[in-house]
Amino acid sequence: MVKQLTLEDIIGALRNPPSDARKKVITKAYDLAMEAHKGQTRRSGEDYVQHPIAVAKILAEIGMGGKTIAAGLMHDIPEDTAITLEDIEKKFGSEISSLVDGVTKLGKIKLRGSHEEYFLENLRKMLLAMASDIRVIIIKLADRLHNMQTLEFNPPEKQIRIARETMEIFAPIANRLGMGEIKTQLQDLSFKYLDPENFQRIKELEEKDQEERDKHVQRAIKELEDEMKREGIQFIRTDGRAKSIYSLYLKLQKHDMDINRIYDLSAVRIILPEVADCYETLGIVHKKYRPMIGRIKDYISLPKPNGYQSLHTTVFGPDGKILEVQIRTVKMDNEAEFGIAAHWIYSERKKKKNWRDLIFKKKKPEPEKELEWVKQLREWQNEIGRDDEEFIQGLKIDFFKNHIFAFTPRGDIIDLPEDSTPIDFAYAIHSEVGNHVTGAKADGKMVSLDYPIKNGQVLEILTSKDRKTPNHDWLKFVKTSAAKSHIRRELRKE
Ligand code: MN
Repeated sequence: MVKQLTLEDIIGALRNPPSDARKKVITKAYDLAMEAHKGQTRRSGEDYVQHPIAVAKILAEIGMGGKTIAAGLMHDIPEDTAITLEDIEKKFGSEISSLVDGVTKLGKIKLRGSHEEYFLENLRKMLLAMASDIRVIIIKLADRLHNMQTLEFNPPEKQIRIARETMEIFAPIANRLGMGEIKTQLQDLSFKYLDPENFQRIKELEEKDQEERDKHVQRAIKELEDEMKREGIQFIRTDGRAKSIYSLYLKLQKHDMDINRIYDLSAVRIILPEVADCYETLGIVHKKYRPMIGRIKDYISLPKPNGYQSLHTTVFGPDGKILEVQIRTVKMDNEAEFGIAAHWIYSERKKKKNWRDLIFKKKKPEPEKELEWVKQLREWQNEIGRDDEEFIQGLKIDFFKNHIFAFTPRGDIIDLPEDSTPIDFAYAIHSEVGNHVTGAKADGKMVSLDYPIKNGQVLEILTSKDRKTPNHDWLKFVKTSAAKSHIRRELRKE
């Protein structure tokens, strides 16, 4: 039996010394989660609440703040327990409750389907619908990570479906958000279920000379540290890094499965305070070990599309054996591991008075940060959708300004122009639904038929066979041309 997680595990995982306010909100959410999930168990047999606690712990580890962690603790409450979103809002306010709501809604979206376009389409919609608060996506990623870590308790069919979805949708999102650590874990866990034979094979291949490789890396670290000290370079730390199983697999495929051709099987990572130190250290490394031609990559000057920054070089290390060295600042290292989440760390460390202060101090206002990410998500869509005609066309519309996304109770997303009404929504589902509308509910509450739908709402359309035709008055307020033309056509039939 795995160790039971408690509140202390979450608090202990926080990356910054917790303020009283933060401890308080986390404790309050913890208590509510304990109460709400009381008596529920997971397939593994453990208490259900262990899942949200584990999710909250992941969020703490990657440096998220109190509100996000609290929302992580409560993310399954509205869907699976007697306690409602309204209860959460009353107790925690609208910011936290809207995070919980966002995660709940994301959970309802159907991301299934093997069709490539369908996948891209859903991915795009999901991002657009949720980009208003990136924290929702981060909570969802933590949720998915823990579900993957405990996937073994599910029936095989479900394992495959979840693993596939994780590999195709969640790992790329983590990657795009620069959350390398989460991405790697999601990929390796998915790979294990999607291709157990190759997973095992690669794992054995990697483990085969592991001990020897470790020794080699340790020796290189020692030699490089001595060299840096001699040259008066103050480094923050050095460590060895093993390649993830899935990324090794991808690389092996490109190299005829010959592991001797993989140069970054293990790497030395050197973490320094400033950018200038990185370049100076690169010089030191090359003085000590002969570099391999054409293998120096300067991702500091030219960051990867997801923002990744580092200097990479492949050298002939101790005994002339090939070794990759990665050199970067603490800030770059944090961003490489935690991506967008790292931004929360900076904004919360403003007042600290050590070297961290130096590095973490300059990140500033929330609104700007949010815009930055919305921008980046859009850029991503440009990238992934490059070959998809319709996709590109869709991008020309300013989604955030003129579009809203509403959900059917089954989780399908309907995108509509701003101020669309339940009638537009109904016709977007099907003309037959539109023709027989008698009423509508938005987020469970009855609304009028000319009600302007808000982004992210769940719409339920009530229909009746007794309604024979659309109402002429509908034409006065519908927004979509689809609704208009259907209504006119029906009325003409009369
Ligand atoms: Mn969950």
